[in-house]
Amino acid sequence: MSDLNLNSLYQELILDHYRKPRNKGELPEKTVEIHMANPVCGDEIRLQLQIEDDKIVEARHVGQGCSISQAAVSMMTHLIKGRELTEAEGVAERFTAMMHGDEEAARDRSMGDLRALQGVSKFPVRIKCALLAFDALQEAIKKDRVES
Ligand code: ZN
Repeated sequence: MSDLNLNSLYQELILDHYRKPRNKGELPEKTVEIHMANPVCGDEIRLQLQIEDDKIVEARHVGQGCSISQAAVSMMTHLIKGRELTEAEGVAERFTAMMHGDEEAARDRSMGDLRALQGVSKFPVRIKCALLAFDALQEAIKKDRVES
C-alpha cells in the first residue's frame, strides 16, 4: 500500500475500512455464498448474501488480503445492503467503470466511500484487488437467479 500515492483523506478512509471492516463475519441466514480469490496478491473473499424477493436483505464477508481488497468488500457490503438486485448490479457496473478510468463514475455521490478507491485505477496490478468484491457480488447475483 505504501507504493500507492493516494489522496490522504481517501487513504484514511481505506485504512479505516481495512482496520474496522463493516459486515465481517458469517451470515447464518445466507441464501447464496461465493468464494473469490486473487492469487497474485493473496486476496480471498467469501461473500455471503441473504436475498429475498430480489432484494439484498443482509450482506457479510469473510476472508483476508491486502488493504484494498478488504476495504473494497467492507465498503461494498455497506452500500448494497437493503438494495434491489438491479440496483446492486448498477453499483457494480459503475465501480468497474471507475476502475477503468471513468471520471464521471468517480464523481457519483451514490458510490459513497467506494469513491476513495478511485486512485487504485492508476495502478493496474491493484485493480483486481479492488474488483474482487464486485466480481463476487456479480457471481452471487447470477447464482441467485439460476437457483430461484
Ligand atoms: Zn490485493
